[in-house]
Amino acid sequence: MSQAQQLQNPAADLFANQTALITGAGDGIGKALALRLAELGAELVLMGRTQAKLEAVDDAIRAVGGKAAVVCPCDLATLDETQADSIMEGIQAECGKLDMLVHNAGILGPRSPIENITLADWAKVMQVNLTAPYVLTRKALPLLRNGEQSRILFTSSGVARPGRAYWGPYAVSKAGTENLCEILAAELTETHTMRVNSINPGPTRTGMRAAAYPAENPNTLPTAEDHIPAYLWLLQRESSAQSGFCYDIWPLPLNLSRLVP
Ligand code: NDP
Repeated sequence: MSQAQQLQNPAADLFANQTALITGAGDGIGKALALRLAELGAELVLMGRTQAKLEAVDDAIRAVGGKAAVVCPCDLATLDETQADSIMEGIQAECGKLDMLVHNAGILGPRSPIENITLADWAKVMQVNLTAPYVLTRKALPLLRNGEQSRILFTSSGVARPGRAYWGPYAVSKAGTENLCEILAAELTETHTMRVNSINPGPTRTGMRAAAYPAENPNTLPTAEDHIPAYLWLLQRESSAQSGFCYDIWPLPLNLSRLVP
C-alpha cells in the first residue's frame, strides 16, 4: 500500500504520546486537523480566538475517546512576548513538551488595492499571520526540543508567490511566512532533527474562503477533512516529507510522488 493510501486509513496510534499545538483550532482546517490528530492518539493544545469554539472542539475530541485537550484562548492580534512566555509555561506544566507546532490561524484582511489599505489593517494582518507565528515559534523552541523529531508546520497560500493583485497584506504575510519557514528550517538543520515546512492547502470550504469568494458555490470545493491526509503526511514522525519546503497540496487527490522534491 502506498503512503498516500495509508494516510487515508492510518494506524489508530499514529500520533500516540505526541503533543500538538494548533492555532486557529476552533474552526475550519484547524478544527478538522485537531479532531483527527486527537483520534489518532495525540494530546492537543487548542489555541484560538473564541473560547466557546475551542471548548466545543475539546468536547468533540472527548466524544471520540481522545485525551482531554488543553484549551488556550488567545487573540493573536495582541499576542506579545510576555503572553507567549506564559502560554509556553502553561504547556510545559501540562504536557512537558511539544512534538508538533501547527501555525494555522489566519485572517484575510482587506482585499483591495495597496493604495487603499490603511496602516492599521496592514499591521493587523501582519501581526496575526506572520508576527504571532514568529513569536510563538521562538518561545516554543525549548518545548519542541523536548519533543522527539519535532515538526513545525506553517500555513501559506497560493496568492503568496507570485504576489497577486488586490490580495494586499494577506499575500505579503504568506510570502513572509514561506520565507520564515525556509530560514528556520535551514538554521535548525544545522543542529537539530526538527522538520520545518509550510503548507498551501489550496481552495477549501471554510469561512475564510467564503469571505474571499462570496459568489462561489462552496459545494464545488474540497472540505477541510479532504486535506487532512496531506497534513498527516507532513506531521507524522516517519515521513518522506523533507524540511524547508512549501508543499502545495492542491489539486486533490493527494499524490505524494508529485510532492516529494
Ligand atoms: P477559518 O477562517 O475557517 O479559520 C481560521 C481560524 O483562525 C479560526 O479558528 C479563527 O478563530 C482563527 N483566528 C483568526 N484570527 C485569530 C486571532 N486573531 N487570534 C487567534 N485565532 C485567530 O480559516 P481556514 O480554516 O480557511 O484557514 C486556515 C489557514 O489556511 C489560514 O492560515 C488560511 O490563510 C489558510 N488557507 C486557507 C485557504 C482556504 O481556501 N480556506 C486557502 C489557502 C490558505 P475564531 O474562529 O475564533 O475566529
